[in-house]
Amino acid sequence: MSDQANPFESLQEQVDDASAYLDASDDVVNRLKHPERVLETNLSVEMDDGSVEVFKAFRSEFNGDRGPYKGGIRYHPNVSRDEVKALSGWMVYKCAIVGIPYGGGKGGIIIDPDDYSEGELERITRSFAKELRPFIGEDKDIPAPDVNTGQREMNWIKDTYETLENTTEPGVITGKALDSGGSEGRVEATGRSTMLTAREAFDYLGRDMEGASVAVQGYGNAGWIAAKLIDELGANVVSVSDSSGAIYREDGFDPRDVKDHKNETGSVSGYPGAQEEFSNRDLLTLDVDLLVPAALENAIDGDLATDVQADVIVEAANGPLTPDADDVFAETDTYVFPDILANAGGVTVSYFEWVQNRQRFYWSEERVNDELETIIVSAFDDLIEAYEENDVPTMRQAAYVVAIQRVVDAYEESGNWP
Ligand code: GLU
Repeated sequence: MSDQANPFESLQEQVDDASAYLDASDDVVNRLKHPERVLETNLSVEMDDGSVEVFKAFRSEFNGDRGPYKGGIRYHPNVSRDEVKALSGWMVYKCAIVGIPYGGGKGGIIIDPDDYSEGELERITRSFAKELRPFIGEDKDIPAPDVNTGQREMNWIKDTYETLENTTEPGVITGKALDSGGSEGRVEATGRSTMLTAREAFDYLGRDMEGASVAVQGYGNAGWIAAKLIDELGANVVSVSDSSGAIYREDGFDPRDVKDHKNETGSVSGYPGAQEEFSNRDLLTLDVDLLVPAALENAIDGDLATDVQADVIVEAANGPLTPDADDVFAETDTYVFPDILANAGGVTVSYFEWVQNRQRFYWSEERVNDELETIIVSAFDDLIEAYEENDVPTMRQAAYVVAIQRVVDAYEESGNWP
């Protein structure tokens, strides 16, 4: 894996790459390459042993032309200001391509959560929520889960906000547990949009999903659900991985069984049904029909891309390919179906959660999944229309053309407030 590409520069390059196909002036596009504001804060939190530790945290509000800022909060040692800025920009274009009424934001704390007790994590999270309080709100900025955060953290943030504001406002945050105002289908939503994108992609390319070989890099919430749902389409998930390494089985795994093993032992490694174990790099270069990077940014750089054999890639992670990798894949006719569509299920069901919170009226899981499918399939069709009609070289550029044009139109229709 490469840690060389700066994700914020990657985002800016992606916007530039799409600009030639947009009906917009350079200065209007240029304002879409920088966040509107970034909060940087140092959280002083008491540890279980009475000492005080300081944690750096960020929240970037990238663009609000289409609605309140929206996006997750991640806890990871590699969080940085530039990473959060990039992720917040990707949220703008993700919300735009699926046509939900939000701008983009993202937050993060530089922390390895495995090193802290539950009580410490609660105090750290509540301390961040206190700092976020002036910025967030159901019509302002709506956080959600991301890497290493989930329902537990969302519930703490909601509770801190509601206590300080002396109100009930479940729509201030999404990805909550069901009994705290969460939505059916939210946990599975990111992986579900990856499956739907893969299904539509195979259909568009005239390939058969039945029996197709699939490798999934990353077995967190997005990766494992994508593996499970793609397996249910009849494909063969032959390799999966996490930070401990990759496992392989020629006839395919039962993803649920691998997940049970990971729950029990902490990793996919050592899974008894595996024929072989190798590195993440080996997984990414397997000769499979479909490759799903579902871990972190920069999993495939230009160098590694030259060894990738799959010719269809569906991105479940945010930013797993560097722009150099995109250049290689454009040359090798590898189809890359981009993150801003393929993992947009998470934020789309967050939108459903927010709608349900505001209406105090809750949907069935079936309704959530049906409405999600409608949105993802229609966004896929918009992407293909842009790809074919404007002769855009790659699927990523086509997605950005559709998304950026929607943000530009919203900006130009409302005018500017100096
Ligand atoms: N963190 C997820 C993403 O990157 C979900 C964001 C949300 O639900 O607001 O899309």
